[in-house]
Amino acid sequence: MPPMPHGLEILTIPCLSDNYAFLIHNAASDETVLIDAPEAAPIQEALKARGWTLTDIVLTHHHDDHIQAVPELRSDGVKVWGNPADAQRLPPLDGHLTPDTQVTLAAHASHIIDVPGHTVGHIALHIPSLGAAFTADSLMALGCGRLFEGTPDQMWQSLQKLRALPDETIIYSGHEYTAANAKFALTIEPGNPALISRVQDITRAVAAGIPTVPSSLTIERATNPFLRADIPELIQSVHISETDPAKVFAHLRHAKDIF
Ligand code: ZN
Ligand code: FE
Repeated sequence: MPPMPHGLEILTIPCLSDNYAFLIHNAASDETVLIDAPEAAPIQEALKARGWTLTDIVLTHHHDDHIQAVPELRSDGVKVWGNPADAQRLPPLDGHLTPDTQVTLAAHASHIIDVPGHTVGHIALHIPSLGAAFTADSLMALGCGRLFEGTPDQMWQSLQKLRALPDETIIYSGHEYTAANAKFALTIEPGNPALISRVQDITRAVAAGIPTVPSSLTIERATNPFLRADIPELIQSVHISETDPAKVFAHLRHAKDIF
């Protein structure tokens, strides 16, 4: 992992049955940024335990399990950020996360990446100085979000943008779906040694109740089938005549949907 700048901390908070929210705290600027708001109580407990005061809420997409705690968490001075293209289905926004722009959060430059697929307005946040990307239901640990609104082509484009982030970027995704994703990934590339070893780690972590999120982009590239639709080893392994990566991706996403 790249070293976290001094005084910076990122906390993973399990919410509801399988969601994750994250807090980014900057001690020097005394700012605390929440990424997604699935459930108020665990977030409020984490803030209280550390003596942090929430300053910003970032919303990745409009689904209830990512926004429903905003009314409870929003108080005076808390700024709520989201994609203005989705403003009509997000809580009222104080700040815009417009794709292909940059905003300052917790005193660090954050790049807004358009990642349609799961929903059409889904955005991801890349904070280069923290070596962190918040991907919610786009790129997930060993998986990707279901295509509720976008096309396979759109999701494949979105995943390629995330795959192109610097090596060692830490991927903070939205759900603990990794064990189920692992079962599916093994049906796609049963002979991938990196995948086999990762699945062992996942099995151990899940049995011990340890979150498998975040993960690193390096390991996602080596093991996540949805990032590997253009990799010859994967294409060979799935035994399809198709070699157009977008079509291979569509095949993988469909296979996962009916798995
Ligand atoms: Zn979602
Ligand atoms: Fe979700």
